[in-house]
Amino acid sequence: MNNNDKKERTGITAFLSLFIFALSVGLVILTDYSGITVMAESRAERGVFNKRAENEMVSELISDRSGYLRIPLPDTVEEGDIDVIEEPLKKRIFIQISGVDEDYYKENFFSGDMTGIRDVKYGFLNGISTVELETEKIRVPVTDYIRGSFYVNVASPAEIYDRVVVIDPGHGGDDPGSIVYGVEEKVVTANVALKLGKELESRGAKVYLINREEASVSESDIARTVNECDADLLLTLHTGADADTRTTKGVEARASDDMKEKAEILTGMLSASCDQRDLKVSEGKVPEGLSDIPCIWLRLGVITNKEEALKMNSEGYQDKAVKTIADFILNRL
Ligand SMILES: [Zn+2]
Repeated sequence: MNNNDKKERTGITAFLSLFIFALSVGLVILTDYSGITVMAESRAERGVFNKRAENEMVSELISDRSGYLRIPLPDTVEEGDIDVIEEPLKKRIFIQISGVDEDYYKENFFSGDMTGIRDVKYGFLNGISTVELETEKIRVPVTDYIRGSFYVNVASPAEIYDRVVVIDPGHGGDDPGSIVYGVEEKVVTANVALKLGKELESRGAKVYLINREEASVSESDIARTVNECDADLLLTLHTGADADTRTTKGVEARASDDMKEKAEILTGMLSASCDQRDLKVSEGKVPEGLSDIPCIWLRLGVITNKEEALKMNSEGYQDKAVKTIADFILNRL
């Protein structure tokens, strides 16, 4: 060990003591230690991670794979013992490791680069070690296993995927949207959103689906999501309504200024493949807060027209529409 190493180790020990002290009094600390930022939350906020986290959450300045956080592993742990679970919209990545002794991470410390990672927590439950990374923005884990180590880096989705799309089903949960002829707007848009997400991911794109089932979502939440994952497009799904005449039908879009021409391509493609009138891009604006991001606000059809309502509710229509929208996103965006 050379002098520099010694200096670093002394620093680490000091840092560790401070850290454990802060944990023991339940403080929230934010410490910047030579480029590695570690944040510990108060005990109360640590949930199942409470019991075991005190000593394990330690960073050491051994930069043996630049840009990566290194999680040491016993030699007996194979790649198949490790699961990476993403909760992207919550900005969390879980790394679950089987076959590590409960005390292993008291002596074997995480090390390396934590760029883009706001917080690391460690917990041990039912024989499984869980490392929870909280990322600063919506990030994709890039991982590498080499016997004895698991390396994790976080990258912008736009760096990894050619196409990154946020899909918003427009309604959901307590907000059903329009209900006409027994057809619920939220059911139509949720089905199309889910199918479209699957279709796009099976063709190599990255999709983030806005969840409107559990809680209401504001325009600014959505805009933040789009910005944080550097998405190419926010696609918001709705159905149109014309309660006065009930005769209007067709596919229509609104769009942010930079997406108007593209949106017109999309309504044209849908009109052709789904045998719908092309109502093109209306002059109506997208909601405040979404006008600065690449946004297409798509009305799949007009729900107050009986024929079109029943059509939009059918699997056949939804599958065709999904294929067409995916073609547009992958080839024409
Ligand atoms: Zn709607």
